[in-house]
Amino acid sequence: MAGASTFTVLNPATGQVVADAPDCTREQLDEAVAAARDAFPNWAALDVAERRRFLAAMADAVDVHTPELADLIVKEQGKPRPVAVAEVAGLSFWLRETCGLELTETVNQDDAERLSVTRHLPLGVVAAITPWNYPIGQASFKIAPALLAGNTVVLKPSAFTPLANLRLGEIWRDLLPAGVVNVVTGSGGLGSWVTGHPGFDKISFTGSTQTGRRVMASAAQRLTPVTLELGGNDAAIVLPDADVKELAPQLFWAAFANSGQICLATKRLYIHEDIYDDLAGELVRLAEQVRVGDPSAGEVDMGPVSNLRQYETVVSLLWDCQEQDYRFLTGGVPEDGTAGYFVAPTLVDNPPESSRIVREEQFGPVLLLLKYRDIDDAVARANAGEYALGASVWGADAQAAQQVAARLDAGTVWVNEVMHLHPRVPFGGRKQSGLGVESGLAGLLEFTEAQTLTVRRSGWQ
Ligand code: NDP
Repeated sequence: MAGASTFTVLNPATGQVVADAPDCTREQLDEAVAAARDAFPNWAALDVAERRRFLAAMADAVDVHTPELADLIVKEQGKPRPVAVAEVAGLSFWLRETCGLELTETVNQDDAERLSVTRHLPLGVVAAITPWNYPIGQASFKIAPALLAGNTVVLKPSAFTPLANLRLGEIWRDLLPAGVVNVVTGSGGLGSWVTGHPGFDKISFTGSTQTGRRVMASAAQRLTPVTLELGGNDAAIVLPDADVKELAPQLFWAAFANSGQICLATKRLYIHEDIYDDLAGELVRLAEQVRVGDPSAGEVDMGPVSNLRQYETVVSLLWDCQEQDYRFLTGGVPEDGTAGYFVAPTLVDNPPESSRIVREEQFGPVLLLLKYRDIDDAVARANAGEYALGASVWGADAQAAQQVAARLDAGTVWVNEVMHLHPRVPFGGRKQSGLGVESGLAGLLEFTEAQTLTVRRSGWQ
């Protein structure tokens, strides 16, 4: 449905208008919620095998429409096309793999005295609020498990990237019973209208920690359950026995994939002093080979930062580095963002732990190289700060690396890899990085509520 008015979506690589998107009014939000509420009883009553069939059909439709969805992502978000194609493929993968999860009943007691069984009921209508870095990817983590568990969904993408999600809604419209999936887009206050709306039974939110706090405060008014996937400032520790040449490309792309705009991107790289210079040299070499540019104009490795607000955040942190005389090994403050928000991959040489660039989430193409001598010191520094989303440890001796990993405080800790996510594996943040998890059985359970039935069989008089 068209909005009463529209808002403009810009291409971050050119600053040009991509399209106008519908600006949802309060009345239209009410209609979307009402449609989801109406659809809920029948959807929840379906046999789970039937819902699995719907999810599989949704995945097939996504596969058919991959090129056009990827094109929309490239234009509204700015990532290179192969990365956008992989993002769309991730949605159909998530839909299919989530179908393999099983919500089983637990028999707590079954004897002459009593039968007690706990089962997991759907909650009702889920609000799925997502950020702009992976418009389709973020939606997949919410839609697949929410629907499988028997809920209906109202999806609200970021105002920076509404287009691929709107198209997804069109693609699925004729496949699903009316009202099962609804997409609302708007600028300004739509997110807070959603979290303040009485018609939601669950809020699944991915975005910044700051907004996450507002979402939780709003949800508290009605005790609406929330899952919050929030900011990160992930550390990686490179042990002295690491093979620098082999690891450098992996560490590089751990930081710079999607122009660093991944909650789980490595942002702080703690390198043992014995290999610091060698690894720094390799990373500079890789950075200088990277083709940064407009992904619609030719083959590039890295697109722009996705929107003006994020560009200004990154540039402000780089300015601070420059003013404090921290050394850029490559990259640095960009010259001009008027013809696209481009920032070259930037490596900062050993800034102090107290600096803004180390403490704050920069969410852009910047990697901090931080030198350590003693592993206890590296672990303490990696664990410092308010975030605890992901972390990784790299070294030739995997067992030694695993021991270090066990000391890291983060929702996921990888050894000799990073950012590996899977529909069967729960993922979430500790500390200020979030509340609850997505994916895996634990993620599916977040879209349900436990209900226990007990039957007294004897011994009551
Ligand atoms: P924001 O928190 O600004 O926005 C996220 C979503 O919330 C958007 O859809 C936004 O809408 C909406 N929103 C804004 N204000 C409110 C409000 N008061 N109530 C409800 N919803 C609101 O984050 P960004 O979009 O800038 O995304 C970047 C952040 O997301 C980073 O901090 C990153 O770490 C985090 N993130 C976390 C992930 C995780 O899994 N832990 C994964 C990916 C990103 P609108 O855009 O229209 O304002």
